Amino acid sequence: MNLFSQDIHIHTKLSSCAGPTALAADYIRLAKAAGYSLIGFADHLWDSAVPGAPGWYVPQNLAHVLSLHGELRSIPKDGLEVRVGAECEYDLAARDIAITEEAAAQLDFLLVPNSHTHITNPGGRDDREAHAKYMMRAFYDILESKNARYVTAIAHPFLAVACPYPWQELLPLYSDDEFRRAFRAAAECGIAMEFNPSTTAGMGMDEDSMRAHPCFRMFRIMKECGCRFTYGSDRHSATGYARHEKTERFAALVGIGDGDILSIL
Ligand SMILES: [Zn+2]
Ligand SMILES: [Zn+2]
Repeated sequence: MNLFSQDIHIHTKLSSCAGPTALAADYIRLAKAAGYSLIGFADHLWDSAVPGAPGWYVPQNLAHVLSLHGELRSIPKDGLEVRVGAECEYDLAARDIAITEEAAAQLDFLLVPNSHTHITNPGGRDDREAHAKYMMRAFYDILESKNARYVTAIAHPFLAVACPYPWQELLPLYSDDEFRRAFRAAAECGIAMEFNPSTTAGMGMDEDSMRAHPCFRMFRIMKECGCRFTYGSDRHSATGYARHEKTERFAALVGIGDGDILSIL
């Protein structure tokens, strides 16, 4: 099993931030051509049964996400495995995942980010120490959720989305020990860490540049702590579907082997 033969983080047009061209049929056709064995759709989700959805999330509920099954029925898969999961939001008010067990049980897999701070904590990002602390707290809240056993992976871990300054600057604020405690806990819960093309943002293709990037230290500690890994392209458009060579090279440098992969097959 190759880490990069399963892409389980793909947004269709059901996600409000994806374009009208993000069609499941196109993804399936392109994924087959690019040599994937499995793809998983992970549209944004806030379960309506959980109060407090930010306005942007209100239409993106479980019925909306699951409506993809109807579309998939008529699409030829030709041997490609296709799954329907979700990228479910972290609920700061409840310090939990914004999903009920009834909803989680209906999904093939579940991704949860600790780093959508542009949505869940937009006012708390200027102070970098506080921003870093927030993501660590969200990380533990996800691990300690009553629905943690449904969580497949943390989406783009510690990669603060739409950060007003380079998110890479936050990673040195965590000590090795702090990372170790968090990633050991994740490994014990069986929750994987996601390789995402954004992981490699800001690094070059050469080994020195990759080793110098703050994600190198973080992913090495994940690996050392026994975490397993998933890959998610986080695509929001079905135009082109080349493999992400830089992320694949980076994962190899981190030392990711077959035994480190969490397969949802
Ligand atoms: Zn995300
Ligand atoms: Zn996403």
